[in-house]
Amino acid sequence: LVEARDAVLSFGQTPALRGASLTVNAGEIVAVMGPSGSGKSTLLHCLAGILTPDSGEIWFDGQRVDTLGETGRSTLRRDRFGFVFQFGQLVPELTAEENVALPLLLAGTKRAAALKAAREWFERLDLAGLESRRSGELSGGQAQRVALARAVVSRPEVLFADEPTGSLDSFTGEQVMELLIDAARQEGTTVILVTHDPRVAAYAEREVVVRDGKASALAPDPVAS
Ligand code: ATP
Ligand code: MG
Repeated sequence: LVEARDAVLSFGQTPALRGASLTVNAGEIVAVMGPSGSGKSTLLHCLAGILTPDSGEIWFDGQRVDTLGETGRSTLRRDRFGFVFQFGQLVPELTAEENVALPLLLAGTKRAAALKAAREWFERLDLAGLESRRSGELSGGQAQRVALARAVVSRPEVLFADEPTGSLDSFTGEQVMELLIDAARQEGTTVILVTHDPRVAAYAEREVVVRDGKASALAPDPVAS
């Protein structure tokens, strides 16, 4: 369903991806692991059509994503993808529930229905009572769960999650992962999850390791390379 073929991307002189290839099938839950700076976030941004690689190809559901142009890519992101950023990007002017409802509002859902759908996630993610807070009035872990709710509220076909439990204590992190995985299985959502936490990766069906801008299915061998 989602594929990178030999993706190469540099930020100025800094190579981030050096020919990364990855295929994720529909309904699969895949964990992307690897050292800090190895290119995990960059790969996720390319797969989700947020960044365009310098060379190589990105595919989603039989269509090229990297050649789509910004309008086509933002339509894909709005209608079919959910994304949790590593460093939460809530809109500070909006309340927590408005932040969660935002993808639905952008897709044309009526305000009352969008807020109702958003509020259901507050209950499920143990955020009840925080609906009217602004993002600056939330703890890091609360903001991260709000960002997660926003990524799943529109029931995306693919959920891209970059360290979605990075600011959560291990108990809350596991609760959130269980909920996320349950919801994904029920809906048939494809999940691509970046994490450095092996306990989080254990929820995935498959692990991929990114090292030096390349992805491989195998765990890194400290002796090789
Ligand atoms: P972490 O586990 O720390 O989140 P990561 O595997 O997600 O790391 P990336 O964020 O993909 O790593 O970064 C890959 C490389 O690209 C790093 O060398 C990083 O410094 C560089 N890089 C990432 N984003 C930018 C940017 N916006 N501008 C310049 N360099 C960047
Ligand atoms: Mg990262």
